Amino acid sequence: MKILVVEDEKKVASFIKRGLEEEGYSVDVAYDGDEGLRMGTSEEYDLILMDLMLPHKDGLEVIQELRGKDIRTPVLCLTAKDKVDDIVSGLDSGSDDYLTKPFAFAELLARVRALIRRGSTERGAEITFADLRLDPVAHKVWRSDKEIDLTTKEYALL
Ligand code: CA
Repeated sequence: MKILVVEDEKKVASFIKRGLEEEGYSVDVAYDGDEGLRMGTSEEYDLILMDLMLPHKDGLEVIQELRGKDIRTPVLCLTAKDKVDDIVSGLDSGSDDYLTKPFAFAELLARVRALIRRGSTERGAEITFADLRLDPVAHKVWRSDKEIDLTTKEYALL
């Protein structure tokens, strides 16, 4: 599972990165909005953690531009601002959830897990035909609930 953290405060960014890596996630960090947009566009992530107050381009703009490029990666906004307006515009611009700073790391982790789970069920819509069931994300196939072992080539043919 790969997470992009867009956060200009180096201390906060490395605290989050370290904590997530301890949980087994692989983490990239972008330190401003432009870099966040570039990385979020060129790499595939399972989740983006987006600070809203960023140099060059703010978090909301980055989210809007990502959504404009049809990038559907779940986004969790991190913001020091806890005004209702900011939260509403964050959600309106295409983010999936938000967390106000300061936050408890356990809560961040719980939200990260929930968003990744939601994202992978949406992307991993299974395909069924008669008694065959195929999971295009996991590359697994079942017949009548019994998993079938296929080589890569057999799977591709199927
Ligand atoms: Ca910031």
